[in-house]
Amino acid sequence: MHRRITGKLVIATHNPGKLAEMKELLAPHGIEVVSAGELGLGEPDETGNDFRSNAAIKAIAAAQATGLPSFADDSGIVVDALDGAPGIYSARWAGPAKDFTAAMAQIERLLQERGATTPDRRKAHFVSALCVAWPDEHLEEVEARVDGTLVWPPRGTAGFGYDPMFLPDGYDRTFGEMDSIEKHGLPPLGLGLSHRARAFVKLAEICLEPR
Ligand code: IMP
Repeated sequence: MHRRITGKLVIATHNPGKLAEMKELLAPHGIEVVSAGELGLGEPDETGNDFRSNAAIKAIAAAQATGLPSFADDSGIVVDALDGAPGIYSARWAGPAKDFTAAMAQIERLLQERGATTPDRRKAHFVSALCVAWPDEHLEEVEARVDGTLVWPPRGTAGFGYDPMFLPDGYDRTFGEMDSIEKHGLPPLGLGLSHRARAFVKLAEICLEPR
């Protein structure tokens, strides 16, 4: 049986961008949101082997620490020609300086080394895994992806991370060339295009009262 989120929800992230995005998505559902940062919670080590287990590790740690239902996400980019790298290590490839220009250049260098120069050899997808954990250990978990092709050089200055080199299937602009409503916004305002937006729609179906 799926469980609905009611009352207060901890957002287990220290990333202000993700917190703002989640607040926006949850506001219409009347959920009161408090962040892990505001509660002074630590960040657990992400020791899982996949996106789903890393999201669960973060959500369970926050639920145990606060006694409140807690939400966490894990995401990244999976490049087919690189056997799935950087995957769960997407943030780490940018190093402590969070240099995504360097991380994108690293992906491009590896693609060139493997002769991946045509669009069909440059397929990639973003993944978003979302988890809500309750203090009694009940979990709700969803995952979604958006497929696309990696372009070089990167295009656009919007968004973050690997957005400027990701061209979603069916579009002629990269995520770096789309505004945030277009990329993350849910219909009727946006296209519900991103992996996170798609995962959120799935979570809303099972855990939130209709808007
Ligand atoms: P997380 O905080 O462990 O989920 O790190 C995910 C990493 O994947 C981010 O630091 C970005 O590098 C990358 N990533 C995830 N979602 C996106 C996106 O929508 N656009 C660009 N990069 C993303």
